[in-house]
Amino acid sequence: MSEDPRSIDTMARKVREFGEARAWGPFHSPRNLAMALSVEANELLELYLWSDDGDTRTEQQRAAVAGEAADVLMCLLNLCARAGVDLPAALDAKLEVAARKYPVERVRGSALKYDAYPEWEPDRER
Ligand SMILES: [Mg+2]
Repeated sequence: MSEDPRSIDTMARKVREFGEARAWGPFHSPRNLAMALSVEANELLELYLWSDDGDTRTEQQRAAVAGEAADVLMCLLNLCARAGVDLPAALDAKLEVAARKYPVERVRGSALKYDAYPEWEPDRER
């Protein structure tokens, strides 16, 4: 059976093998990877700095965003591997919490934070 190149497991394996080939394990502590993730996320953010509408209009802009998004993903996959995080399970758990905080019937079409709704109850956060 062939490997799905778009699966999280395949991407994580590619990133792990890339680092292993370069013997970067000693540098990839969860702390360093969390910091690197933040740096890369800010490099992504920088691409939108001082733009009027934050849109990506040119092929060059889209390529730059893709490059930084890939950097973010590499750091996240490395961090999850080193920190023992099951990313698909973590995503499912987070979406479950978010669904309780943001019920469709209440928030559809609104960008308000969950605690800005008048009927918000603190126990919904958990
Ligand atoms: Mg970068």
